[in-house]
Amino acid sequence: MMNTIGRYDEFGGTYVAEILMQPINELRAAWNEAKSDEAFTKALFDILKNYAGRPTALTEVPYFSAKIKGPRIYLKREDLLHTGAHKLNNALGQCLLAKRMGKTRVIAETGAGQHGVATAAACARLGLTCIVYMGSKDMKRQAPNVSRMQLMGATVIPVENGSATLKDAVNQALRDWSESYSDTHYCLGSALGPHPFPEMVAEFQSVIGRECREQCQQQFGAMPNIVIACVGGGSNAIGIFSEFLSDHHIQLIGVEAGGTGKELGQHAARFYTATPGVLHGCYTYVLQNSEGQIAETASISAGLDYPAVGPQHAQLYKNKRVEYVAVADDEALAALQLLARTEGIICALESAHALAYLVKIANQLPKNFSVVVNLSGRGDKDLPQIMARENV
Ligand SMILES: *Cc1c(COP(=O)(O)O)cnc(C)c1O
Repeated sequence: MMNTIGRYDEFGGTYVAEILMQPINELRAAWNEAKSDEAFTKALFDILKNYAGRPTALTEVPYFSAKIKGPRIYLKREDLLHTGAHKLNNALGQCLLAKRMGKTRVIAETGAGQHGVATAAACARLGLTCIVYMGSKDMKRQAPNVSRMQLMGATVIPVENGSATLKDAVNQALRDWSESYSDTHYCLGSALGPHPFPEMVAEFQSVIGRECREQCQQQFGAMPNIVIACVGGGSNAIGIFSEFLSDHHIQLIGVEAGGTGKELGQHAARFYTATPGVLHGCYTYVLQNSEGQIAETASISAGLDYPAVGPQHAQLYKNKRVEYVAVADDEALAALQLLARTEGIICALESAHALAYLVKIANQLPKNFSVVVNLSGRGDKDLPQIMARENV
Protein backbone atom coordinates (compact mmCIF):
# COMPACT_ATOMS: atom_id res chain seq x y z
CA MET A 1 0.00 0.00 0.00
CA MET A 2 0.95 3.60 -0.53
CA ASN A 3 1.88 5.82 2.39
CA THR A 4 0.75 9.41 2.81
CA ILE A 5 3.44 11.01 0.68
CA GLY A 6 2.62 8.96 -2.37
CA ARG A 7 5.22 6.21 -1.99
CA TYR A 8 4.82 2.55 -2.82
CA ASP A 9 7.78 1.43 -0.71
CA GLU A 10 10.64 3.37 -2.30
CA PHE A 11 8.76 3.91 -5.57
CA GLY A 12 6.54 6.83 -6.59
CA GLY A 13 7.00 10.26 -5.04
CA THR A 14 6.87 13.72 -6.60
CA TYR A 15 10.02 14.50 -8.59
CA VAL A 16 8.98 17.72 -10.30
CA ALA A 17 10.32 21.22 -10.82
CA GLU A 18 9.37 23.55 -8.00
CA ILE A 19 6.99 25.49 -10.20
CA LEU A 20 4.76 22.41 -10.46
CA MET A 21 4.45 21.92 -6.71
CA GLN A 22 1.64 24.45 -6.44
CA PRO A 23 -0.76 22.79 -8.92
CA ILE A 24 0.19 19.37 -7.57
CA ASN A 25 -0.57 20.37 -3.98
CA GLU A 26 -3.84 21.91 -5.11
CA LEU A 27 -4.74 18.71 -6.97
CA ARG A 28 -3.86 16.52 -3.97
CA ALA A 29 -6.12 18.55 -1.71
CA ALA A 30 -9.01 18.53 -4.19
CA TRP A 31 -8.66 14.81 -4.82
CA ASN A 32 -8.54 13.97 -1.10
CA GLU A 33 -11.71 15.94 -0.59
CA ALA A 34 -13.53 14.59 -3.65
CA LYS A 35 -12.84 10.91 -3.07
CA SER A 36 -14.65 10.94 0.24
CA ASP A 37 -17.54 13.11 -0.98
CA GLU A 38 -20.67 11.14 -1.80
CA ALA A 39 -21.88 13.73 -4.31
CA PHE A 40 -18.68 13.31 -6.35
CA THR A 41 -18.82 9.53 -6.20
CA LYS A 42 -22.44 9.60 -7.31
CA ALA A 43 -21.79 12.01 -10.21
CA LEU A 44 -18.99 9.72 -11.39
CA PHE A 45 -21.12 6.60 -11.04
CA ASP A 46 -23.93 8.24 -13.04
CA ILE A 47 -21.77 9.39 -15.93
CA LEU A 48 -19.98 6.02 -16.11
CA LYS A 49 -23.32 4.25 -16.26
CA ASN A 50 -25.43 6.49 -18.46
CA TYR A 51 -22.80 8.01 -20.76
CA ALA A 52 -19.87 5.59 -20.86
CA GLY A 53 -21.90 2.37 -20.74
CA ARG A 54 -20.80 0.70 -17.51
CA PRO A 55 -20.90 -1.99 -16.31
CA THR A 56 -19.04 -3.64 -19.18
CA ALA A 57 -19.76 -7.32 -19.82
CA LEU A 58 -17.77 -10.31 -18.56
CA THR A 59 -17.83 -12.73 -21.51
CA GLU A 60 -16.87 -16.42 -21.42
CA VAL A 61 -15.00 -17.45 -24.60
CA PRO A 62 -15.32 -21.26 -24.87
CA TYR A 63 -14.43 -21.53 -28.58
CA PHE A 64 -11.20 -19.60 -28.07
CA SER A 65 -10.42 -21.79 -25.07
CA ALA A 66 -11.10 -25.03 -27.00
CA LYS A 67 -8.61 -23.98 -29.70
CA ILE A 68 -5.83 -23.54 -27.15
CA LYS A 69 -6.87 -26.53 -24.99
CA GLY A 70 -7.34 -24.13 -22.13
CA PRO A 71 -9.33 -23.70 -18.93
CA ARG A 72 -12.49 -21.58 -18.54
CA ILE A 73 -11.64 -18.16 -19.95
CA TYR A 74 -13.55 -14.93 -19.32
CA LEU A 75 -12.89 -11.53 -20.87
CA LYS A 76 -13.60 -8.28 -19.01
CA ARG A 77 -14.91 -6.22 -21.90
CA GLU A 78 -13.42 -2.72 -21.61
CA ASP A 79 -13.47 -2.79 -25.42
CA LEU A 80 -17.22 -2.16 -25.08
CA LEU A 81 -16.75 1.09 -23.15
CA HIS A 82 -17.57 4.33 -25.04
CA THR A 83 -14.58 5.48 -27.14
CA GLY A 84 -13.30 1.89 -27.20
CA ALA A 85 -11.00 1.44 -24.21
CA HIS A 86 -10.74 1.66 -20.41
CA LYS A 87 -9.17 5.15 -20.74
CA LEU A 88 -12.58 6.85 -20.44
CA ASN A 89 -12.99 5.71 -16.79
CA ASN A 90 -10.03 7.90 -15.86
CA ALA A 91 -10.75 10.79 -18.25
CA LEU A 92 -14.30 11.20 -16.91
CA GLY A 93 -13.09 11.01 -13.31
CA GLN A 94 -10.39 13.63 -13.80
CA CYS A 95 -12.59 15.95 -15.86
CA LEU A 96 -15.31 15.84 -13.18
CA LEU A 97 -12.63 16.68 -10.63
CA ALA A 98 -11.34 19.53 -12.85
CA LYS A 99 -14.83 21.03 -12.98
CA ARG A 100 -15.17 20.72 -9.23
CA MET A 101 -11.87 22.62 -8.90
CA GLY A 102 -13.25 25.40 -11.10
CA LYS A 103 -10.91 24.70 -14.01
CA THR A 104 -12.18 25.50 -17.50
CA ARG A 105 -9.33 24.09 -19.59
CA VAL A 106 -7.95 20.54 -19.67
CA ILE A 107 -4.67 19.44 -21.23
CA ALA A 108 -3.65 15.86 -21.95
CA GLU A 109 -0.86 13.92 -23.63
CA THR A 110 -1.51 11.01 -25.93
CA GLY A 111 0.55 8.37 -27.71
CA ALA A 112 -1.71 6.13 -29.74
CA GLY A 113 -4.50 8.65 -29.32
CA GLN A 114 -6.81 6.60 -27.09
CA HIS A 115 -6.33 8.79 -24.01
CA GLY A 116 -6.63 11.89 -26.20
CA VAL A 117 -9.92 10.65 -27.63
CA ALA A 118 -11.25 9.76 -24.16
CA THR A 119 -10.28 13.19 -22.79
CA ALA A 120 -11.76 14.97 -25.82
CA ALA A 121 -15.04 13.12 -25.27
CA ALA A 122 -15.09 13.83 -21.52
CA CYS A 123 -14.36 17.54 -22.14
CA ALA A 124 -17.04 17.83 -24.82
CA ARG A 125 -19.58 16.23 -22.54
CA LEU A 126 -18.63 18.37 -19.52
CA GLY A 127 -18.16 21.67 -21.34
CA LEU A 128 -14.39 21.99 -20.88
CA THR A 129 -11.82 23.30 -23.37
CA CYS A 130 -9.52 20.45 -24.43
CA ILE A 131 -5.92 20.64 -25.65
CA VAL A 132 -4.09 17.42 -26.53
CA TYR A 133 -0.30 17.22 -26.99
CA MET A 134 0.75 14.50 -29.40
CA GLY A 135 4.11 13.64 -30.96
CA SER A 136 4.11 14.58 -34.64
CA LYS A 137 5.27 11.06 -35.48
CA ASP A 138 2.31 9.60 -33.59
CA MET A 139 -0.07 12.04 -35.33
CA LYS A 140 0.94 10.53 -38.66
CA ARG A 141 0.70 6.94 -37.38
CA GLN A 142 -2.69 7.51 -35.71
CA ALA A 143 -4.42 9.91 -38.10
CA PRO A 144 -7.99 8.60 -37.51
CA ASN A 145 -7.70 9.30 -33.76
CA VAL A 146 -6.51 12.86 -34.51
CA SER A 147 -9.68 13.38 -36.56
CA ARG A 148 -11.85 11.93 -33.80
CA MET A 149 -10.38 14.34 -31.23
CA GLN A 150 -10.84 17.31 -33.57
CA LEU A 151 -14.43 16.33 -34.36
CA MET A 152 -15.18 16.43 -30.62
CA GLY A 153 -13.77 19.96 -30.42
CA ALA A 154 -10.28 19.30 -29.08
CA THR A 155 -7.18 21.13 -30.32
CA VAL A 156 -4.37 18.70 -31.11
CA ILE A 157 -0.91 20.26 -30.82
CA PRO A 158 1.94 18.45 -32.60
CA VAL A 159 5.13 17.96 -30.57
CA GLU A 160 8.31 17.94 -32.65
CA ASN A 161 10.87 17.63 -29.82
CA GLY A 162 12.97 14.53 -29.13
CA SER A 163 11.62 11.41 -30.78
CA ALA A 164 8.26 13.21 -31.41
CA THR A 165 6.37 10.51 -29.51
CA LEU A 166 4.61 10.02 -26.17
CA LYS A 167 7.36 10.94 -23.70
CA ASP A 168 7.94 14.21 -25.55
CA ALA A 169 4.21 14.93 -25.46
CA VAL A 170 4.23 14.41 -21.65
CA ASN A 171 7.11 16.90 -21.32
CA GLN A 172 5.18 19.45 -23.35
CA ALA A 173 2.01 18.97 -21.30
CA LEU A 174 3.97 19.44 -18.04
CA ARG A 175 5.47 22.62 -19.47
CA ASP A 176 2.02 23.95 -20.40
CA TRP A 177 0.70 23.10 -16.92
CA SER A 178 3.49 24.99 -15.16
CA GLU A 179 2.27 28.18 -16.88
CA SER A 180 -1.47 27.57 -17.00
CA TYR A 181 -2.55 25.88 -13.77
CA SER A 182 -4.69 28.77 -12.58
CA ASP A 183 -7.42 27.69 -15.03
CA THR A 184 -6.06 24.35 -16.30
CA HIS A 185 -6.07 20.73 -15.15
CA TYR A 186 -3.56 18.23 -16.53
CA CYS A 187 -5.42 14.99 -17.22
CA LEU A 188 -2.63 12.37 -17.16
CA GLY A 189 -3.51 9.15 -18.96
CA SER A 190 -2.08 6.28 -16.90
CA ALA A 191 -1.24 5.28 -13.33
CA LEU A 192 2.03 7.15 -13.61
CA GLY A 193 3.70 10.47 -12.99
CA PRO A 194 3.98 12.46 -9.76
CA HIS A 195 1.75 11.78 -6.75
CA PRO A 196 -1.30 11.94 -6.64
CA PHE A 197 -1.70 10.74 -10.25
CA PRO A 198 -0.75 7.05 -9.76
CA GLU A 199 -3.15 6.66 -6.86
CA MET A 200 -5.93 8.74 -8.40
CA VAL A 201 -5.82 7.01 -11.79
CA ALA A 202 -5.73 3.58 -10.10
CA GLU A 203 -8.80 4.55 -8.09
CA PHE A 204 -10.68 5.70 -11.22
CA GLN A 205 -9.83 2.41 -12.95
CA SER A 206 -10.64 0.22 -9.94
CA VAL A 207 -14.26 0.10 -11.12
CA ILE A 208 -13.07 -2.59 -13.56
CA GLY A 209 -11.96 -4.90 -10.74
CA ARG A 210 -15.02 -4.24 -8.56
CA GLU A 211 -17.41 -5.11 -11.39
CA CYS A 212 -15.33 -8.10 -12.37
CA ARG A 213 -15.39 -9.60 -8.89
CA GLU A 214 -19.17 -9.31 -8.70
CA GLN A 215 -19.61 -10.76 -12.21
CA CYS A 216 -17.36 -13.75 -11.41
CA GLN A 217 -19.49 -14.46 -8.35
CA GLN A 218 -22.69 -14.21 -10.44
CA GLN A 219 -21.46 -16.19 -13.44
CA PHE A 220 -19.49 -19.01 -11.87
CA GLY A 221 -19.95 -18.56 -8.15
CA ALA A 222 -16.26 -18.22 -7.31
CA MET A 223 -13.19 -16.05 -7.67
CA PRO A 224 -10.95 -16.52 -10.72
CA ASN A 225 -7.74 -18.54 -10.24
CA ILE A 226 -5.77 -16.18 -12.48
CA VAL A 227 -6.22 -12.58 -13.68
CA ILE A 228 -4.13 -11.35 -16.63
CA ALA A 229 -3.76 -7.80 -17.99
CA CYS A 230 -1.39 -5.96 -20.32
CA VAL A 231 0.87 -3.30 -18.78
CA GLY A 232 1.76 -0.06 -20.54
CA GLY A 233 1.80 2.66 -17.87
CA GLY A 234 -0.22 0.17 -15.89
CA SER A 235 -3.70 1.67 -15.45
CA ASN A 236 -5.94 -1.08 -16.86
CA ALA A 237 -3.86 -3.70 -15.02
CA ILE A 238 -3.97 -1.95 -11.65
CA GLY A 239 -7.66 -1.27 -12.24
CA ILE A 240 -8.50 -4.96 -12.43
CA PHE A 241 -5.77 -6.22 -10.03
CA SER A 242 -6.61 -3.81 -7.19
CA GLU A 243 -9.75 -5.71 -6.25
CA PHE A 244 -7.83 -9.01 -5.98
CA LEU A 245 -4.53 -7.91 -4.40
CA SER A 246 -5.41 -9.06 -0.90
CA ASP A 247 -6.64 -12.48 -2.11
CA HIS A 248 -3.21 -14.06 -2.09
CA HIS A 249 -4.34 -17.32 -3.69
CA ILE A 250 -5.37 -15.47 -6.87
CA GLN A 251 -2.49 -15.35 -9.32
CA LEU A 252 -2.03 -11.94 -10.99
CA ILE A 253 -0.02 -11.63 -14.21
CA GLY A 254 1.02 -8.41 -15.99
CA VAL A 255 2.12 -8.66 -19.62
CA GLU A 256 4.52 -6.17 -21.19
CA ALA A 257 5.48 -5.54 -24.81
CA GLY A 258 8.29 -7.89 -25.83
CA GLY A 259 8.54 -6.21 -29.25
CA THR A 260 10.92 -7.90 -31.67
CA GLY A 261 13.80 -8.89 -29.40
CA LYS A 262 15.52 -8.65 -26.03
CA GLU A 263 18.06 -5.93 -26.88
CA LEU A 264 17.49 -2.47 -25.40
CA GLY A 265 15.52 -0.56 -28.04
CA GLN A 266 13.66 -3.61 -29.39
CA HIS A 267 10.95 -3.85 -26.70
CA ALA A 268 9.15 -1.98 -23.91
CA ALA A 269 9.59 -4.63 -21.18
CA ARG A 270 10.67 -2.62 -18.14
CA PHE A 271 10.84 -5.74 -15.96
CA TYR A 272 13.48 -7.45 -18.15
CA THR A 273 16.08 -5.47 -16.23
CA ALA A 274 13.97 -3.67 -13.57
CA THR A 275 16.43 -0.79 -13.23
CA PRO A 276 15.12 2.10 -11.13
CA GLY A 277 15.20 5.72 -12.24
CA VAL A 278 13.09 8.85 -12.46
CA LEU A 279 10.86 9.74 -15.40
CA HIS A 280 8.03 12.27 -15.53
CA GLY A 281 7.97 13.00 -11.82
CA CYS A 282 8.13 9.51 -10.40
CA TYR A 283 10.74 6.99 -9.18
CA THR A 284 10.10 3.62 -10.78
CA TYR A 285 11.57 1.07 -13.19
CA VAL A 286 12.74 2.78 -16.36
CA LEU A 287 14.30 1.56 -19.59
CA GLN A 288 17.61 3.39 -19.77
CA ASN A 289 21.14 2.97 -21.06
CA SER A 290 24.22 2.60 -18.84
CA GLU A 291 24.46 6.41 -18.55
CA GLY A 292 20.87 6.73 -17.35
CA GLN A 293 19.58 8.15 -20.65
CA ILE A 294 16.00 7.08 -21.37
CA ALA A 295 16.07 4.33 -24.00
CA GLU A 296 14.04 4.12 -27.18
CA THR A 297 11.28 1.53 -26.96
CA ALA A 298 9.55 -0.56 -29.61
CA SER A 299 6.24 -2.40 -29.83
CA ILE A 300 3.62 -3.25 -32.42
CA SER A 301 1.21 -1.71 -29.92
CA ALA A 302 1.55 2.04 -29.36
CA GLY A 303 -0.27 1.90 -26.00
CA LEU A 304 2.42 -0.31 -24.44
CA ASP A 305 5.33 1.59 -25.95
CA TYR A 306 6.55 3.68 -22.99
CA PRO A 307 9.90 3.52 -21.13
CA ALA A 308 8.55 3.71 -17.54
CA VAL A 309 5.97 1.73 -15.57
CA GLY A 310 3.60 2.92 -12.83
CA PRO A 311 5.23 2.91 -9.36
CA GLN A 312 2.70 0.55 -7.80
CA HIS A 313 3.66 -2.08 -10.37
CA ALA A 314 7.32 -1.61 -9.41
CA GLN A 315 6.32 -2.37 -5.81
CA LEU A 316 4.15 -5.36 -6.78
CA TYR A 317 7.06 -6.76 -8.79
CA LYS A 318 9.51 -6.31 -5.95
CA ASN A 319 7.09 -7.84 -3.43
CA LYS A 320 6.38 -10.68 -5.88
CA ARG A 321 2.61 -10.17 -5.58
CA VAL A 322 2.28 -9.84 -9.36
CA GLU A 323 4.25 -11.81 -11.95
CA TYR A 324 5.42 -9.75 -14.94
CA VAL A 325 6.13 -11.36 -18.29
CA ALA A 326 6.47 -10.18 -21.88
CA VAL A 327 5.24 -11.46 -25.23
CA ALA A 328 6.52 -10.63 -28.71
CA ASP A 329 4.75 -8.59 -31.41
CA ASP A 330 4.02 -11.71 -33.47
CA GLU A 331 2.54 -13.60 -30.54
CA ALA A 332 0.17 -10.72 -29.78
CA LEU A 333 -0.91 -10.49 -33.40
CA ALA A 334 -1.59 -14.24 -33.57
CA ALA A 335 -3.70 -14.11 -30.39
CA LEU A 336 -5.70 -11.18 -31.78
CA GLN A 337 -6.45 -13.15 -34.94
CA LEU A 338 -7.41 -16.29 -33.03
CA LEU A 339 -9.87 -14.41 -30.80
CA ALA A 340 -11.38 -12.65 -33.84
CA ARG A 341 -11.95 -15.93 -35.70
CA THR A 342 -13.20 -18.01 -32.78
CA GLU A 343 -15.36 -15.47 -30.95
CA GLY A 344 -16.01 -12.51 -33.28
CA ILE A 345 -14.20 -10.02 -31.05
CA ILE A 346 -11.45 -7.80 -32.46
CA CYS A 347 -9.41 -6.58 -29.50
CA ALA A 348 -6.72 -3.92 -29.30
CA LEU A 349 -3.13 -5.00 -29.93
CA GLU A 350 -2.37 -3.96 -26.34
CA SER A 351 -5.01 -6.34 -24.93
CA ALA A 352 -3.80 -9.05 -27.32
CA HIS A 353 -0.54 -9.18 -25.33
CA ALA A 354 -2.47 -10.40 -22.26
CA LEU A 355 -4.32 -12.97 -24.36
CA ALA A 356 -1.10 -14.13 -26.02
CA TYR A 357 0.46 -14.99 -22.68
CA LEU A 358 -2.60 -17.05 -21.80
CA VAL A 359 -2.25 -18.87 -25.15
CA LYS A 360 1.30 -19.80 -24.12
CA ILE A 361 0.37 -21.28 -20.72
CA ALA A 362 -3.20 -22.49 -21.39
CA ASN A 363 -2.58 -26.19 -22.00
CA GLN A 364 -0.61 -26.55 -18.76
CA LEU A 365 -3.45 -25.17 -16.62
CA PRO A 366 -6.01 -27.42 -14.89
CA LYS A 367 -9.18 -27.55 -17.01
CA ASN A 368 -11.36 -26.45 -14.11
CA PHE A 369 -9.38 -23.23 -13.59
CA SER A 370 -11.09 -19.91 -14.35
CA VAL A 371 -8.95 -17.22 -15.92
CA VAL A 372 -10.01 -13.59 -16.47
CA VAL A 373 -8.25 -11.52 -19.12
CA ASN A 374 -8.79 -7.77 -19.06
CA LEU A 375 -9.67 -6.87 -22.65
CA SER A 376 -8.57 -3.25 -22.30
CA GLY A 377 -9.77 -2.01 -25.70
CA ARG A 378 -11.10 -2.72 -29.16
CA GLY A 379 -8.95 -3.17 -32.21
CA ASP A 380 -10.49 -0.83 -34.78
CA LYS A 381 -7.63 1.64 -34.28
CA ASP A 382 -5.11 -1.09 -35.11
CA LEU A 383 -6.57 -2.23 -38.44
CA PRO A 384 -3.92 -0.50 -40.61
CA GLN A 385 -1.14 -2.20 -38.61
CA ILE A 386 -2.88 -5.57 -38.70
CA MET A 387 -3.58 -5.35 -42.45
CA ALA A 388 0.02 -4.39 -43.13
CA ARG A 389 1.12 -7.84 -41.91
CA GLU A 390 0.74 -10.28 -44.79
CA ASN A 391 -0.21 -13.32 -42.69
CA VAL A 392 -3.75 -12.05 -41.97
C1 LIG B 1 -3.50 2.99 -23.40
C2 LIG B 1 -3.90 1.57 -23.53
C3 LIG B 1 -3.24 0.55 -22.82
C4 LIG B 1 -2.02 0.79 -21.97
O1 LIG B 1 -2.20 1.66 -20.91
P1 LIG B 1 -2.30 1.18 -19.41
O2 LIG B 1 -2.24 2.43 -18.64
O3 LIG B 1 -1.15 0.26 -19.15
O4 LIG B 1 -3.59 0.47 -19.26
C5 LIG B 1 -3.70 -0.74 -22.93
N1 LIG B 1 -4.75 -1.04 -23.72
C6 LIG B 1 -5.41 -0.09 -24.42
C7 LIG B 1 -6.56 -0.50 -25.29
C8 LIG B 1 -5.01 1.24 -24.36
O5 LIG B 1 -5.67 2.17 -25.07
